[in-house]
Amino acid sequence: MFSDKELNPKIPYGAQDISQADIDAVNEVLRSEFLTQGPVVPRFELSVASMCDAQYAVAVNSATSALHLACLALGVEPGDSVWTTPTTFVATANCAIYCGANIDFVDIDPLTYNMSTECLREKLMQSKLRGKLPKVVIAVHLCGQSCDMEAIYLLAKEYGFCVIEDASHAIGGQYKKHAIGSCMFSDITVFSFHPVKIITTGEGGMAVTNRPELAERMRLLRSHGVTNDIFKMSPRREGQIWNYQQIDLGYNYRLTDIQAALGLSQMKRLDEFLAKRRAIAKKYNERLSNFKITIPWQHSDAISSYHLYPVRIKESLCGRTQKEVYEIFHKNNVCVNLHYIPIYLHPYYEAKGFKEGYCPESELYFQEAITLPIYPTMSAASFERIISVLEDCIN
Ligand SMILES: *Cc1c(COP(=O)(O)O)cnc(C)c1O
Repeated sequence: MFSDKELNPKIPYGAQDISQADIDAVNEVLRSEFLTQGPVVPRFELSVASMCDAQYAVAVNSATSALHLACLALGVEPGDSVWTTPTTFVATANCAIYCGANIDFVDIDPLTYNMSTECLREKLMQSKLRGKLPKVVIAVHLCGQSCDMEAIYLLAKEYGFCVIEDASHAIGGQYKKHAIGSCMFSDITVFSFHPVKIITTGEGGMAVTNRPELAERMRLLRSHGVTNDIFKMSPRREGQIWNYQQIDLGYNYRLTDIQAALGLSQMKRLDEFLAKRRAIAKKYNERLSNFKITIPWQHSDAISSYHLYPVRIKESLCGRTQKEVYEIFHKNNVCVNLHYIPIYLHPYYEAKGFKEGYCPESELYFQEAITLPIYPTMSAASFERIISVLEDCIN
């Protein structure tokens, strides 16, 4: 098998694709008047909002910040409950803790790895009996495939909670012919522009919504809770200069114009990125179809943006443990990854009282899943190397 690192340069699990046009767009801002939030930020917001058919978009410095602002805008406070799935990045849960709220977890569906609507319904029924329903449920579109949003939305109406879509993986994906981010079945959708995601701004995120009051609140809170809108300011004594007022406790979560320029330029390449990711996923599906592993299952209502391509390794089927396969890949300089450790098993969350066994499907997935590399600039040679390492190791 491969050992020469010269012949086998590192294959990452994900990577950005920066073009000359992207670089030129950033350079243009560097020579302009505004470096931080200026005229390019609203152009980037408009580009994302119009692509996904949402009314309002609020750009911020990360998806983590967007999740925090989304929770605040929906009124999440100490004593409230926020629910999500354990199979996601920790930021999806941390945003509730930032607001002083309690976090709880709904297990995943064994086919899509998204929130199981059956488990959600069951947990809602039991929680209603105990009189403690969630204020917000955060649905994560894992790997870029949408959750069953219509079912979640119907439960939201029935039980009276708000819905945030964590679409950090999923810009460009679709659900029932609607672009993810249309917020047809949610209050707010959040995107991430971290370099491993579908498009990048270095660091960055965005919240989109169709509810003007939520957009306004997120805009206020992304910049210290400060306003210069005369109609929102309290009257003060004649003769004093009040050119702005802080009217709420906000943060500095602003995106820079430098980042927005990169994002705007990357948005022009979104279709190209999606086409390349989908082509790689299709090739994986074809080539891995006779391997004794589980490839990602796609719901017919969803078109994935394929941020991730996880496969499941069962020792009883292929004779190798997930950990062995993971290590063989890394020995061969293929940086496969794991998405995700169930959040509540992290020490910080364990200390809140969560125990192993809480969400069995998420834990089983954690025991079996490995994320194969997928990114738009992947070469045919890299693809063949990945297939051949896996073939040598399990078949
Ligand atoms: C990446 C990611 C985040 C956080 O995004 P940042 O932009 O890095 O803050 C949140 N949720 C999920 C599911 C993610 O993958």
